[in-house]
Amino acid sequence: MDLLEYQGKQLFARHGLRVSSGEVVETVADAVAAAERIGYPVVVKAQVLIGGRGKAGGVKLAADESEVRSHAGDILGMDIKGHLVRKLWIEHASDIASEYYASVLLDRSAKRPLVMFSVEGGVDIEEVAEKTPEKLIRHHVDPLAGLSREEAVEIARRGGADADVVEGVADALVALYEVWIEEDATLAEINPLIVTPEKEVRALDSKVSLDGNALFRHPDSQGLSDSENEDPIERRAKEEGLQYVKLDGDIGILGNGAGLVMSTLDVVAQAGGSPANFLDAGGGSDAEKIEQAVDLLLANDAVKAVLFNIFGGITRCDEVARGLIAAFEQIKPSVPFVVRLDGTNDVEGRRLLQEAALPHVHAAKTMNEAAEMVVALAAGDSVGAPA
Ligand code: GDP
Ligand code: MN
Repeated sequence: MDLLEYQGKQLFARHGLRVSSGEVVETVADAVAAAERIGYPVVVKAQVLIGGRGKAGGVKLAADESEVRSHAGDILGMDIKGHLVRKLWIEHASDIASEYYASVLLDRSAKRPLVMFSVEGGVDIEEVAEKTPEKLIRHHVDPLAGLSREEAVEIARRGGADADVVEGVADALVALYEVWIEEDATLAEINPLIVTPEKEVRALDSKVSLDGNALFRHPDSQGLSDSENEDPIERRAKEEGLQYVKLDGDIGILGNGAGLVMSTLDVVAQAGGSPANFLDAGGGSDAEKIEQAVDLLLANDAVKAVLFNIFGGITRCDEVARGLIAAFEQIKPSVPFVVRLDGTNDVEGRRLLQEAALPHVHAAKTMNEAAEMVVALAAGDSVGAPA
């Protein structure tokens, strides 16, 4: 679950990280009122779940009331890479001497938390990592011991933080690590972590993702999910109790059981295709659920072909076939489907499909065969007669 900048900063503040005081608003009038309370100059910042707001014109300094009014008016309603700006964060503007970078995330391959730090923050950190990797300090943490103050000081020194702010940077790193651990975050990032002319170290931006599976441990954070900014198909899936994750490709995938869907994604990728989603219809998928799932799959306009991979255990293949037939009566999809039915009542399931003679539906016997067929269909090739 991704947090907006101001929500991340609220978590930061709770753990002793320095942030500027500010207010979140949704109208120009409230932006002006907030700025009057906060004191000029202020920064007007679009609150959307996407980076690069500054470059897109979504972060603006305002010296007085008329500037707040015009910037707030410009930024509210702005579209930043497909994200509509509905909220602004107004905070007291900082003077900046240096812009650093700091983050904590889980390095799965090392099986350890990874703390990263650079004195070249503020810009595209990916570029620093790629072109001058020596300027991005990477430090793995013993998860049982946590990040000690000594380690944090060492990271700040190695990264080349100015001598008079090494202590301040170390404090910030320790606090950021605490945020990551105690809030069950998957990512806690500050870019830029600024140094002011007075040598104060402060988080000017935040990027925090919380582990949705740990939310039950954080009643305070449960209200933070910005459902307006969620992908609309993923939100619908959640409401319907379907496990759906949108991906970048053009082949819709549906299976029963998370493991089977994961391997279906792999097999399709291996066959040269690009999955458009992960969708687990779960065990015991009945006709109604299949219908919902087909509708959901096709809500993504990028989908050019669909692979149904069903392994019948608790799920009965004849039920799935009935669901598919019912769904096709309602939806009449225009993209081709490949259906692989195997396991409990598979013969009956395939027979039902054959009798229904659905347009654009192809049957496959094995997973590999199904993957190759769906990749060909997505590319616009024909694969022989429908089922
Ligand atoms: P992002 O572009 O989405 O990463 O948004 P940021 O919150 O990082 O802001 C972008 C840039 O705006 C920062 O790198 C700063 O250079 C600048 N900026 C943001 N807040 C302030 C501020 O209080 N004072 C000044 N001088 N610049 C700011
Ligand atoms: Mn930033």
